[in-house]
Amino acid sequence: MTPELQEMFDAALAAHANSHSPYSNYPVGAAVRAGSGKVYSGCNVENAAYPQGWCAEASAIAAMVSAGERRITAVLTLTNGPIMGTCCGGCRQKIREFAELDVPIHACGPEGLRRSFTLEELLPFSFGPESLP
Ligand code: ZN
Repeated sequence: MTPELQEMFDAALAAHANSHSPYSNYPVGAAVRAGSGKVYSGCNVENAAYPQGWCAEASAIAAMVSAGERRITAVLTLTNGPIMGTCCGGCRQKIREFAELDVPIHACGPEGLRRSFTLEELLPFSFGPESLP
């Protein structure tokens, strides 16, 4: 793992530890690297009224935007279990708002990197900001 990826992994792992996921028991941590180079992280936050919860990627993106940044250059997600977890469809679209199609999305488990994708691989033929007139 490169130092840059390790920094994102460590941030996602720390957020993962703070996940509020008592209903699914599926904690997720995420980290996004912004245009400045800074890493923002987040976890999933579930709710007793299930649809009111949100994903780790959404938390990380909200932290980035709240800090005044608008460009994602890399994404990393961290999930437990034997099956590799990738971003849900909604999060792929949320990432698309702030990322170019060649931005890497790294799917990790607690042991480390499992597989890397580009945003375009996970969200082909996508709709983005430039799609609007
Ligand atoms: Zn999601």
